[in-house]
Parts: sequence; structure tokens; C-alpha cells
Amino acid sequence: MTDRRVVILLGPPGAGKGTQAVRLSEGLGLPHVSTGDLFRENLSKSTELGLRAKGFMESGKLVPDELVLEMLFDRVSKPDCAEGYLLDGFPRTIPQAEALDARLVGEKTVALLLEVDDSLIVGRAAGRLLCKSCGNIQHLEFSPPAKEGVCDQCGGELHRRKDDEPDVVRERLVVYHEQTAPLVGFYENKGLLRRVKGDQSPDAVYADLLKNLEGAV
Ligand code: ADP
Ligand code: ADP
Ligand code: ZN
Repeated sequence: MTDRRVVILLGPPGAGKGTQAVRLSEGLGLPHVSTGDLFRENLSKSTELGLRAKGFMESGKLVPDELVLEMLFDRVSKPDCAEGYLLDGFPRTIPQAEALDARLVGEKTVALLLEVDDSLIVGRAAGRLLCKSCGNIQHLEFSPPAKEGVCDQCGGELHRRKDDEPDVVRERLVVYHEQTAPLVGFYENKGLLRRVKGDQSPDAVYADLLKNLEGAV
């Protein structure tokens, strides 16, 4: 056993992983590692990795495991992850979960599943607004900006994600059920899964997450 903590946030697209990860990262003192954010960063800088991931992301498919694993393991090898890290959007396939598992050496690990019904997902994603400057996540209806198009947190410009178009979200949901939902059983079998209802207010979700982390990591 080590004192390193690995907290995994699982859940469908739009479940609220990113929103909660920002708060948890601060609350737990662990860096927030989002593979989606890392790919979007690579894409905005037109790196080779970003260009290789682009087509998969835009069509709502998963980026191939090899690309994801290389990027993720590179990220969690950085010094700020020495005490542990908070994973958002990773793992997303059984091979990714197995590769992570093979790398862990007795870290305290927990997988928090944000449960949100499919019927809510398209609306969550369709209204999602992301700040170009600080990464803050808002929503047209559920967390509306005080001034249209402007980030409440930093005054930066809010934009929509291309892959949040309803057709792409529906494809991402299919992909979630086929390739990512099996991770629920994977972590359940290890006794590491905690379920949290994601269809409550963000404050209530956060409180439930903290409750479920007690004694786990
Ligand atoms: P969401 O927040 O809606 O769950 P993400 O921002 O996590 O979406 O991911 C956006 C896209 O980036 C995914 O649809 C996929 O193409 C790619 N991606 C992110 N993480 C992974 C991963 N672990 N494995 C494969 N593809 C990924
Ligand atoms: P994920 O990272 O799982 O894809 P996000 O955290 O980006 O999800 O949330 C998706 C959208 O739903 C965002 O626009 C966010 O503001 C909104 N949202 C997040 N949590 C809640 C909640 N508990 N209730 C209503 N809307 C929420
Ligand atoms: Zn901002």
C-alpha cells in the first residue's frame, strides 16, 4: 500500500464529471486529469496527437486506446501527480482500465459513478458552455451566464463543443453503453465502485461524492 490516492470519475457524457472534478480536485488537493481536456488542448495546438484524435472526437467515437494510454501515462508521471490524481473521462474501455490497474502499485483507489438517465444527457450536452480562457463549465439553462457568451468566473469567451451537437451526443451515448458501461462491473468486482445520483443539484452531487469518499481514499 502507498498513500497515493487515485480517484476515478465514471459516468456518461454530460453526467457532470468535469463540473464535479473541478471542485473535488480542490477539495482533495489532487490534480484534475481529464483526457478529453488533454485531447482538446492538443487539438487547439494542432499537435500530431491532436490531429490523430480529431476525427474520432468529432464523430463521437473513442480515440484508440494506444493514443489515450500514452498521453495519460505521460501526464500522470509528472511531479504534481506524485501524491495521486483525479481521473475524469479515463478509463473508458476495459483495456484502458486493465492498463491503469497494471500500473497501480497499491494506491488507494475509488471509482465514483455519476448516474444520470439517458433522457437527460442530450439536454445537458446541448446546453453546455465552456470558457475558452479558464475552462469553466456553464450551461445555457442550468448555470446560465450573467452576461450572454461571457464566463462568470473570468470574463472570458464561452463557446460550445462541436461534439455536443445532439446527433454526435447520441452517438457518444451509444459508445458509452457499449464500451464504457462495462467498467461499472469491473470496479464493482474489485469492491471499488461507489454510486452517486447525478440528477441532483451540483451542490447535492458534490456532498454525496464527499460522503462516498470517506474512508475510501
Ligand atoms: P464528456 O465530458 O462529454 O464525457 P470528454 O471531454 O471526456 O467527454 O471526451 C471528449 C472526447 O474525447 C470523447 O468523445 C472521445 O472521442 C475522446 N476521449 C476522451 N477521453 C477518452 C478516453 N479515455 N478514451 C478514448 N477517447 C477519449
Ligand atoms: P461531463 O464532464 O460528465 O461531460 P459536465 O460537467 O461538462 O459533464 O456537465 C455537462 C453540462 O451539464 C454542463 O453544461 C454543466 O454545466 C451541466 N451540469 C453539470 N452538473 C449538473 C447538474 N448537477 N445539474 C444540471 N446541470 C449540470
Ligand atoms: Zn472563464
